[in-house]
Amino acid sequence: MTVYANPGTEGSIVNYEKRYENYIGGKWVPPVEGQYLENISPVTGEVFCEVARGTAADVELALDAAHAAADAWGKTSVAERALILHRIADRMEEHLEEIAVAETWENGKAVRETLAADIPLAIDHFRYFAGAIRAQEDRSSQIDHNTVAYHFNEPIGVVGQIIPWNFPILMATWKLAPALAAGNAIVMKPAEQTPASILYLINIIGDLIPEGVLNIVNGLGGEAGAALSGSNRIGKIAFTGSTEVGKLINRAASDKIIPVTLELGGKSPSIFFSDVLSQDDAFAEKAVEGFAMFALNQGEVCTCPSRALVHESIADEFLELGVKRVQNIKLGNPLDTETMMGAQASQEQMNKISSYLKIGPEEGAETLTGGKVNKVDGMENGYYIEPTVFRGTNDMRIFREEIFGPVLSVATFSDFDEAIRIANDTNFGLGAGVWSRDQNTIYRAGRAIQAGRVWVNQYHNYPAHSAFGGYKESGIGRENHLMMLNHYQQTKNLLVSYDPNPTGLF
Ligand code: NAD
Repeated sequence: MTVYANPGTEGSIVNYEKRYENYIGGKWVPPVEGQYLENISPVTGEVFCEVARGTAADVELALDAAHAAADAWGKTSVAERALILHRIADRMEEHLEEIAVAETWENGKAVRETLAADIPLAIDHFRYFAGAIRAQEDRSSQIDHNTVAYHFNEPIGVVGQIIPWNFPILMATWKLAPALAAGNAIVMKPAEQTPASILYLINIIGDLIPEGVLNIVNGLGGEAGAALSGSNRIGKIAFTGSTEVGKLINRAASDKIIPVTLELGGKSPSIFFSDVLSQDDAFAEKAVEGFAMFALNQGEVCTCPSRALVHESIADEFLELGVKRVQNIKLGNPLDTETMMGAQASQEQMNKISSYLKIGPEEGAETLTGGKVNKVDGMENGYYIEPTVFRGTNDMRIFREEIFGPVLSVATFSDFDEAIRIANDTNFGLGAGVWSRDQNTIYRAGRAIQAGRVWVNQYHNYPAHSAFGGYKESGIGRENHLMMLNHYQQTKNLLVSYDPNPTGLF
């Protein structure tokens, strides 16, 4: 067991600066209007640094830098770009523990997750796209004996990227790695709640990337974010965040006719079929653990399995086991490696989740466990909430609205068709879980659920080489997997005639 010292105190392996500027053209540049935002650690509720509050003027400077760098960067060889991505991954690996603690401090998530999942996944993402871009082939086809169609994957040029606060470094990486691999220059806006861990990372890897290729403008969504997504100087916008803001981004993109990828909200169902408890074995154990997966990252995951649908024949027994498992989740100081669930990312988020802890019972849901804001010894001002399980019906707000917290809403079903009907009775379609021992059930349910990612007999696994994205209001486009490169490239077709003779038409 390790308990990492709070950054800013003696013995900490993390050295956050007191102030972070924007990162433009390879340099730290103060915001044009001279304003800063206070950055709070949800672990203790205290301010630990301030970060530039960028505006449209800073976005312009970043776009100037990106445009100046884009042409040369876009013409580098894929081998050269792949090498840079590998170097970024290697450097991150050398600093893995430090980056993991920095991220935990800013976001509140348990360090056991940042150490074992978030940061290793981010590192692997750079390695994956380093390999993917080299393996990608430009296709040429022979139209007839004298005519050849050449296809080239060209970078888009300058792209805008806007990300949320729930996985600051991983969400940044999901966008940076493929965009860089494809040869684009980038202007990124991190979430105002969690810009510092990304800027901390830039201090570690910034020197590996040519000046101007990666630019970061911090600030509020309505200011720096809107200026970036509304700019005529980007060739593509990639956004991860709420469905509400995603609609604004989509409108801004359609005005300019530029490609857009949107990774938005979710209300993911996990279906537990009647055979999961048919034997008292490791599989049953795994399914019970799957029930508790809603608490990963304090429930602040777009794919959080926030609706559990349990077959009525096993409901009593399964819920008893599941609730016991939830009650064993160790909530506490996120910097302690024994802690399973840390702090919610912000006070605003804690308040929003708390409001649903009231809405559930008011709507008639039964509280099976949890239901309260929690206090962690020595961190009384941090943002902690008990993992909570409600039992109710799919028409309740706790089943329909994205809570984005450690709150599970459970309903039962009587047969396969009813399970699928409830699962699909949502505006979202991001993730889903299917738990069964039966291959036929797995396949039929997996295909019938309207969601971009269906986990089968597992949940919350995010390999770089597996496509991820939403159906319905959960988004447009995919991330991860080499198909992601297409979202950061455009196809140039060169149609060449080698025929020495005229066409003969005129
Ligand atoms: P949010 O939409 O409020 O903010 C996301 C980002 O958009 C932030 O950087 C914010 O500053 C910026 N933004 C806000 N208003 C803007 C505007 N008018 N113009 C341009 N940019 C603007 O979302 P959030 O609360 O930070 O993040 C949580 C949401 O993100 C949840 O809905 C969650 O499901 C979603 N999410 C989705 C995925 C996915 O892959 N599908 C992954 C993580 C999070």
